[in-house]
Amino acid sequence: MDTLFIEFRDPLFGIILFFALIFIVSFVSYWATRIRTKEDSEQISRFLNSLSSSPSYQELKQEIEHSCISDKLWLQIAQSYSSNGETQMAIQIYQALCDSSKSTEQKSHLLILLARTYFKAGFLQRCEKTLLEMLARRPRTVEALKLLLLTYEKMKLYDKALEITVVLNELELYIQDEILHLNTLKLLEDLTLSAEQKCTYIVKQNLHSRRALEYLFVNNAHLAWSHFNVQDAKKITDILWSLNKESLNLDIISSDEYLSGLYSAKGYVDFVKSTLVFELDVLIKLRTHDIEMASLQFEYRCTNCAHMSLFAQARCSKCNKIDSTIVDISLTQGRHETSNTF
Ligand SMILES: [Zn+2]
Repeated sequence: MDTLFIEFRDPLFGIILFFALIFIVSFVSYWATRIRTKEDSEQISRFLNSLSSSPSYQELKQEIEHSCISDKLWLQIAQSYSSNGETQMAIQIYQALCDSSKSTEQKSHLLILLARTYFKAGFLQRCEKTLLEMLARRPRTVEALKLLLLTYEKMKLYDKALEITVVLNELELYIQDEILHLNTLKLLEDLTLSAEQKCTYIVKQNLHSRRALEYLFVNNAHLAWSHFNVQDAKKITDILWSLNKESLNLDIISSDEYLSGLYSAKGYVDFVKSTLVFELDVLIKLRTHDIEMASLQFEYRCTNCAHMSLFAQARCSKCNKIDSTIVDISLTQGRHETSNTF
């Protein structure tokens, strides 16, 4: 049995003890490092998480009041957020700047920027409230009045929008287009009037806006043709293209070169064999060879700011100009429509 034990004076005992100590030290060192690394990693994660959440309004306000960044730079930051669609952050910066500002003129400017951001984000009631607050101090601010008019129009509060035009008129601004536009919208959305009454009113008031003509052609094509000025044909090509064959007035169409080409291309009439409008001419030529696999598609371009849209707009969504869009036509693959698409 004594051979199984090693005496402590034996050199082998020393070697075993040495390796045992190395093992224990390595083991302890490994776990200590691992625990420390894990704690560091968790601490960094907590720090990064705190950065990824948006600052509160109070934090932002303190940052603005105590940082060395100028107000002008903060405005650029807010505009950058707004352009990128992060309107909430832009709104918070404008609010904090407004709270911190001591100049009345700067506060008014910031309130308009804030209102514009609310408008862009679709918070129309907040936009209205901000503008009214601003106008209570400076009632003749044209920029705020125009934005308030747009806000009321979007809210379909046409009477209130028309009240704004009275103020703008007193400031000697040209707002006849605005009045006509608002009255047309008010008429078309009046639930107390029948479609026939609205059509009669459009003709009686001699309304020639795109919205008015569209309503007239959809609801009373016969009246529309008698009211319609053929010089406006290009402006409403898409509306005319979508009409049923039964809704046409052949006397008017045959007397006008553009309309003859348009409906010959559509295949409703056979008044011309060619036309100066390239797209219509191609369609006419295709039809003479009994090929009907092509049609027209439409895009809408603002003549004021060149903004392109796939949808017709009574007011340009970019520059807010009224009835400024013209119709761009192009060829597309597809059969001719057999009925209107209203
Ligand atoms: Zn425009």
